[in-house]
Amino acid sequence: MSALQLSHLCHRYNGNIAVEDVTFSLAPGARLAIVGPSGCGKTTLMRLIAGFELPHTGTIVMDARTLVSASESVPAHLRNIGYLPQDGALFPHLSVAANIGFAMPGSTKANRRHIEELAERVSLPPTMLARWPHELSGGQQQRVALARALAQKPALMLLDEPFSALDTGLRANMRNAVVEVLNDAGVTAILVTHDQQEALSFATVLAVMGNGRLRQMGAPMDLYLRPDDEQIATFLGEAIFLDAQAQEGYATCALGKIPLCTAAASGQVRIMLRPEQLRIDPIESSALGARAQVVRRIPCGSQCRITLALAPPSSGSQFSATCLDVLVPEALAPVTGSRVTVHVLGRAHGMGSPGKRSPSSP
Ligand code: ADP
Repeated sequence: MSALQLSHLCHRYNGNIAVEDVTFSLAPGARLAIVGPSGCGKTTLMRLIAGFELPHTGTIVMDARTLVSASESVPAHLRNIGYLPQDGALFPHLSVAANIGFAMPGSTKANRRHIEELAERVSLPPTMLARWPHELSGGQQQRVALARALAQKPALMLLDEPFSALDTGLRANMRNAVVEVLNDAGVTAILVTHDQQEALSFATVLAVMGNGRLRQMGAPMDLYLRPDDEQIATFLGEAIFLDAQAQEGYATCALGKIPLCTAAASGQVRIMLRPEQLRIDPIESSALGARAQVVRRIPCGSQCRITLALAPPSSGSQFSATCLDVLVPEALAPVTGSRVTVHVLGRAHGMGSPGKRSPSSP
């Protein structure tokens, strides 16, 4: 049985499409991350599920209970859905304890034990319970908001960019803590984010949205390594695209002969590799791999971005000379002008014929 089933959900604001024909189901305990460019309908989709907006058409069923159909709509406060917004949205006039216990029947004093348990679950020391929201850091405020949302024992937790106001280190810590808490509580969750790294490390299921529609949905690494088109590929991280000739499970391209993820493609194809699939050998050798020269080197902290000009193909080759951008550890980055050999690790993903590029907008 699905924990959540959305069927043909559509929503418009003043006639403009925000969510278009969205259909998917989630298994109990799944963590779905939705990514997509700003304005593609992520927040609207969350608001439809939460009950803050009523869809124009479509149905929402949660744990076999219909929340929205053509004839009914369960109000937001009766849906048993937790919502964690970007800023935590704590009540400024209530203490941390009162914020966590807000939805509990009875007084904060009577609920003390339960509030302390929830605070512990989100790693807030008991000394913080007496504080006011403005006396907390951004990360601590988000922990309080999470504890408050968990207090409702939600069947589904919606997380709308809840880490975006936090700095990088804290962001990763908070994300890991939330995953742990959701796992322990067995709560199904949906995270909206524009940060692909965050999505890939949070999700058991990943969805890419564009123009109100679901573009692709599946296992996170499946989408990362086998995206449906170039836009989805680049949305999920850096990618290298090359024209190639496919035959019997291999693609021959400017980088040599590379095994393909699926053997089905044949003839002219466009292939995708992730930059981490390239290994740069500082010795130029023509025996294995492709020869290249480092033409640019941009240090960026622990890593260095180098631009490689692949050696011009032999006369008669159908592949043109190509430049590639690759990230390598700074300590191992070859100097500009040096000659190297490029080896490909793993398989390439065939994305259709070279003439068939992605649609112009997501
Ligand atoms: P995202 O969360 O992916 O950035 P949104 O769901 O916020 O996207 O917005 C989807 C589209 O709906 C955008 O074009 C946005 O301008 C529009 N939109 C969102 N909220 C409203 C609103 N309350 N009134 C009118 N248009 C809105």
